[in-house]
Amino acid sequence: MHRNNSVIWMHYDYILFWANRKEAMEFSHGEKVIIIHFGELWLRGRNRNMYIKALFGNISRAMVGEDARLEKMYDRFVLRLGRKADLGSIGDKLDHTFGISNYEITYASSNSMDAIEKLAGKVLSETEKCSLKVSAHRSFKELPFDSAEVSSRIFALAKKMGFTMSNKEFSREIRINITKDNSFISMDRKRTHGGLPVGTSGTGIILLSGGIDSPVAAWYAMKRGVSPIYVHIHGYSNLEEARNSKITMILKELSKYSHGSVVYFVPSHIFEMSAMSSGKYELVLLKSFMLAVAQKIAKKEGANMIFTGESLGQVASQTPSNIAAESYGIKIPILRPLIGFDKQEIISLARRIGTYEMSILPYKDVCSINARNPKTHTEIERLRRIKKEVKLGVAVTRTLKASAKVEL
Ligand code: ATP
Ligand code: MG
Repeated sequence: MHRNNSVIWMHYDYILFWANRKEAMEFSHGEKVIIIHFGELWLRGRNRNMYIKALFGNISRAMVGEDARLEKMYDRFVLRLGRKADLGSIGDKLDHTFGISNYEITYASSNSMDAIEKLAGKVLSETEKCSLKVSAHRSFKELPFDSAEVSSRIFALAKKMGFTMSNKEFSREIRINITKDNSFISMDRKRTHGGLPVGTSGTGIILLSGGIDSPVAAWYAMKRGVSPIYVHIHGYSNLEEARNSKITMILKELSKYSHGSVVYFVPSHIFEMSAMSSGKYELVLLKSFMLAVAQKIAKKEGANMIFTGESLGQVASQTPSNIAAESYGIKIPILRPLIGFDKQEIISLARRIGTYEMSILPYKDVCSINARNPKTHTEIERLRRIKKEVKLGVAVTRTLKASAKVEL
C-alpha cells in the first residue's frame, strides 16, 4: 500500500470491512475454510477497530487473484475458499501478512454433538496416525454439552482409530471450536509473525543497501506497522543498471510483506566527486549524506522516521561517536532496529525472512563505503566543518534531482 493512495485505501478498507462483516454465517457440512486470528490487535483499546480494518484490507488485497473471499466473524476472520483455491499460495500470502498471529485450515459443521463427532471422524481418517492432543473450546455456553464432554468423546474416537493420545507429548493437535451457530475442526494451527498491519504506523524511509542487515531492519519496521519507502544509494552509471541489480530482487522479496514497494534509486557519483578530499572521514561523511538525502525524501513523502540496519560496534563506522556524528543535524528520528543484534543473529533472521541468499550475491558497492582506514572516532564539530568545506548540502540537492522514484 503506497502512502499517496492511503486515503483511498482507508475508505476502501472501511466499505469492504462493513460489507463483509458477519456475525452468523452458514457453512455446508465439511466445508473447508481458513480461520485467521489476530492476537495482539486485541490489546489496542479504542484503536482496535482501526487495526482490524487495516488488517482486513491488507489480507483482502493480498487475496486478489486467489479463489478466496475474506469475511469477519466475531473476533476472527474467515477465508471462504472457492473450488480453485490454491492453499499453498494462499498460505504463503498469509505467512507474509503482519498482524495475523495464527491461522488454521478448518472444516465447518453445525454444532450438534453428532455432527462434530462425524466430522472429527472424517478429518482423523484423512490424517496419518501420530501422537495426538485434543483441545475443545466452546465460546457459546448455552449448549446441552460442554467442552470437556466434546474432548472426551473425540479422545475416545481417536484412540479407537489408532492414534496415540497424550495432552503432554504430542506431534499434532486436533482442535474443535464451537460457536453459537457452528463448529470448526482443524488439525494444527500455523503460527505467523504477529506484529501490526503494515500502514498502521505511518510511513518510514528505509536506507537499503545491498547487504544483509538493512533488509532485516526493513522487516522489523514493517512488522511494527510501518509502510516502507526505500532509498538506495548506488554506484552505477545509470538507472537501468541499478534497477537490474540484486536490489530489485531483495525489494521483490520484501514487497511480499507490504504488497508492493516504492524505491528511490539515488546515484552516488555527485557525492563521490565532492568527498574526494575528505580522506579518513569519507565513510562517515557518506553516512551523513545518506541520512540527509533520506530526510529530504521523507519530507517530500510525508514520512516521519528513517530506518537503518546499523548495529552498535559491528564495523569500524558504527561506533557510538560515528553514529552520533552522522546523525547530527537530522531532525526526524533515526531508528536502528538491529542495534543490539550480533551478526550471526541477523544472518539467521535474514534466512528466515528470505533475503539472505540475495544479500550475499556479489554487488557493485558505492566506492566510498570501502574507504580505507575509516575514522572510528569522529568529533561532531570536525565533521560539521568538513560538510561545509565539501558543500555537502549542494551535493544532496543535485543528487536528489538525479534520483529516480520507482514503484515495484
Ligand atoms: P548492511 O548489511 O545493511 O549493508 P553493513 O553492516 O554493511 O549494513 P554499513 O555498510 O555500514 O553496514 O551500512 C550501515 C547502514 O547504512 C545500512 O544498514 C543501511 O541502512 C545504510 N546503507 C549502507 N549502504 C547503503 C546504500 N548504498 N544505500 C542506502 N543505504 C545504505
Ligand atoms: Mg553494507
